[in-house]
Amino acid sequence: MTPLHADDRAPTTSTDRFVLRGGTIHDPLHDRDGVVDDIWIEGGKIVARPADPSGFVSVDAAGLVAMPGGVDLHSHVAGPKVCIGRRLSPPAGRGGRAPVPTIGATGLAYAALGYTTVFDAAIATGAAGLAHLELASLPVVDKGIYLLAGDDARVIDAAAAGDSAAVTRLLGAAVTAGRGWTVKVANPGGNRFWRHGRRGDHHDLDTPLPGLALTPRGLLDHLGLAVDALALPHALHVHTANLGLPGNWRTLDETMRTFDGRRVHLAHVQFHSYTGGDLDEESFGSGVEPLAERFNASPGITLDVGQVLFGDTVAMTGDSEAAAHLARTTGVPWVSHDQHLSGGCGVMPIRYREKSLVHAWQWAIGLEWYLRVADPWRAALSTDHPNGAHFLAYPLLMKLLGDEPFRREAFARIHPAVRRRSALAEIRREYSLQELCILTRAAPARIAGLHDKGHLGPGADADVVLYRPSPDLERMFAVPARVYKAGVLVAEDGEIRAAPIGATHAAAVCAG
Ligand SMILES: [Zn+2]
Repeated sequence: MTPLHADDRAPTTSTDRFVLRGGTIHDPLHDRDGVVDDIWIEGGKIVARPADPSGFVSVDAAGLVAMPGGVDLHSHVAGPKVCIGRRLSPPAGRGGRAPVPTIGATGLAYAALGYTTVFDAAIATGAAGLAHLELASLPVVDKGIYLLAGDDARVIDAAAAGDSAAVTRLLGAAVTAGRGWTVKVANPGGNRFWRHGRRGDHHDLDTPLPGLALTPRGLLDHLGLAVDALALPHALHVHTANLGLPGNWRTLDETMRTFDGRRVHLAHVQFHSYTGGDLDEESFGSGVEPLAERFNASPGITLDVGQVLFGDTVAMTGDSEAAAHLARTTGVPWVSHDQHLSGGCGVMPIRYREKSLVHAWQWAIGLEWYLRVADPWRAALSTDHPNGAHFLAYPLLMKLLGDEPFRREAFARIHPAVRRRSALAEIRREYSLQELCILTRAAPARIAGLHDKGHLGPGADADVVLYRPSPDLERMFAVPARVYKAGVLVAEDGEIRAAPIGATHAAAVCAG
């Protein structure tokens, strides 16, 4: 059977009431770790075992591992910079997959992989309408967007004036108008620095924005308080300053201190965890150990890693300063896009290489982060698709986390200076199936504030993935045997069986 296109509306191949019999269930929210049981489904939802099971079609799931559908809480799948990324995308590599797929291919590939929810983590407020138009044709997966509302000139002016009520009002209006899920900030105040000619040079959280008394730390503080006042389901989503720069681990550490005791989500921490003053073999390296120590002791903070995996991809960010710095460092042609009074973005192709000092460090630092996080409920699996790697590489990442000998083999191939100095050489931890289930579904659903996702209890959306168990975790997770979305069989052995359009998650803003 050939895969369907996004606009094909195949009839569902599932009935409305059925029971998946005898699967080996991983449902961390309900503390079920490899329990053989049945999953009852009615009207697209998981239900309790009915008193009268007649009328439920029985579907055999014996021998298969059952997990909730995957939740990707930090990806880039729609909007202006993704469209630019498609144009700048290098030719499809091995396996024929383009680094930045079309919107139709994106949904089908997520579905075939067993993912049923994705959030685009950076949509400019002025581009929200266009992004929703595009996302309206994203097949299968449910979706939502985080709005880059902290770049809005009026928000910055209100924060500079110390008017927290106005900041809250403006962000609430932006989230309502843009149908956002939360507020994202990409380099707080960074676009101000960028427009005033401070192109890519270091500034810390306490350097005032050009012409203002407001600092990036002050802006973070205002945005975090406003998101909490609005009671948005997901915390302020923070991509902090100095992304990609040597020595930036201190900026991430200061960012955590700024939110001392309050909730915040830290995006793609891998790109913010570097030591050193330059890109040299002796000083550039990993700042993960002290950062993870602070993170582990800060229960209000959650994170995703933004893992780098080797190969060709496209970098795209709402952080124009970081994009300019990367373009200058790599020398590749790039696109810078200015959104007038509401931010900007930069986009360029990138090839991550095992023998590159910087890329090997990025790979090792991302893995070190996952392996030093004490509580996987506060972390989400991500490659910051497509920045660190394609989301189709998630099974490879899961194997790197869950198979220490495999990780050691990969480690032996990277740049020798990194092998010599990375703490990864000494870390033997392996993620269990249950922990991988937390990292890819249960935790991102909870962190994103989705109560009907990431678990298999009554009331959950019937997003269920059945895997064939295998000692090869990459093989196991790459091609699920069956994927159900809201009770509809959408994929089977990598083939699309139905392509219904999923729901849009938009936050109901609390009027205060
Ligand atoms: Zn991102």
